[in-house]
Amino acid sequence: MTVQPKATISIAAAALPKVAWGEGLSVYDTNGKRYIDGSGGPAVYCLGHGNREVNAAIAAQLDRIAHGYRYTFTSDPLEELTALVAANCGGGLTRMVFVSGGSEAVESAMKIALQYHAARGDMSRRRFISRERSWHGNTLGALSISGFRERRAPYEGALIEGGALISPANAYRPPEGVAPEALPAWYAAELEETIRRIGPDAVAAFVFEPVVGAAGGVVPAPPGYAAAMREVCDRYGVLMIADEVMCGAGRCGTWRALAHDGVEPDIMTVAKGLGGGFLPLGATVYHQRVAEPIDRVYGGVLTGHTFTGHTAACAAGVAVQTIMRREKLVERVHDLGPVFMGLLARELDGIAAVGDLRGRGFFVGVELVADRALKTPFDPAEKLYIRIRNAAFERGLICYPSGGNVDGTAGDTVILAPPYIATEAELEEIAVLFGLSLRAALAEIGAG
Ligand code: PMP
Repeated sequence: MTVQPKATISIAAAALPKVAWGEGLSVYDTNGKRYIDGSGGPAVYCLGHGNREVNAAIAAQLDRIAHGYRYTFTSDPLEELTALVAANCGGGLTRMVFVSGGSEAVESAMKIALQYHAARGDMSRRRFISRERSWHGNTLGALSISGFRERRAPYEGALIEGGALISPANAYRPPEGVAPEALPAWYAAELEETIRRIGPDAVAAFVFEPVVGAAGGVVPAPPGYAAAMREVCDRYGVLMIADEVMCGAGRCGTWRALAHDGVEPDIMTVAKGLGGGFLPLGATVYHQRVAEPIDRVYGGVLTGHTFTGHTAACAAGVAVQTIMRREKLVERVHDLGPVFMGLLARELDGIAAVGDLRGRGFFVGVELVADRALKTPFDPAEKLYIRIRNAAFERGLICYPSGGNVDGTAGDTVILAPPYIATEAELEEIAVLFGLSLRAALAEIGAG
């Protein structure tokens, strides 16, 4: 067995192949090599690649007009997508702005929360509480509430201060001495203490990912968590913002990830699966009761960009969401999720480094540990997650690895997030290739 020198392990842009074309779950580079997309890129390509119907809808819109600027026009795609998203969200989540991606959606969510409090004459509620090991985006506001130390590090000192990062809700790595059934109450008590410490009149919103993505390697919250946090938010007049950029739009087998928990947030973001990656698209959806004071005082939300509500991007979203409904793809994800999990469990059976295999729907995380009993992460210098990514890539599998365990609070993780259209045979191909890749990467560091 050869142990590769650590210095050679990286993903250098210069070494990346050039993407050529794709169809369904297959992606081809300019050398003709085929990859199966086991993660839908970064959990984006919910309809796979090269969908003719979506492409035709975009082309038809471009032929009519690419974009009607929001201060000048509304449009059919904008109105149709609003109706589709409101129907998918259900309840009072009827109002929304369409933006160009996840970070913009999170920024808008933060600003809508601030504007809501301002409209009610409460200018003291300016702080955000979010969680460690979370990811909300790369713009400065979204980065300020993200618990992803490695990505924050170069910007410390310039980030918005005064908020707090509380514990991630992680049943695999719970707070010491807390029994599984006591977790929701423990996390809710921590939220309450934090609100009291910052000042009950100073907190604007609590922001969380119902199922953590990039920062934790798919971590669904323990049952009862969201309801317990909702109750604390309500008691203190703190808005709840659910960041569903990655876990929403059907990825977890319900259109809203938080619908699984029977909880309705005040504000919600969604992005990746909304437009399926065909064009840049995200949304911030907010509740009627949040809209009411904003409309009354300001005549609408005071946030937006040149490409807000971009007509062709909304047309892509309408096509993607129409197909998702017609083909019952969210139900498909719900039903086939356990099948995919079973295939992975079979392929990873006997690999001691697999500490946790978890997820919901077509959103699965694998956490690797050096010691299963102690849950000790591998030495971050081994860059195991990159080795896994490289081993998979060599074998023609695209997966989404995440390391960032420098604070020792998590192991290397890999996300698998197949397109919703994946057949059982394709799910099996992904599981088999992933098992082979993981074994190869572990062998490289002598952990096989
Ligand atoms: N929130 C979450 C939960 C995300 O996963 C991401 C992206 N991975 C973002 C926000 C930021 O989205 P974008 O990269 O589209 O700006």
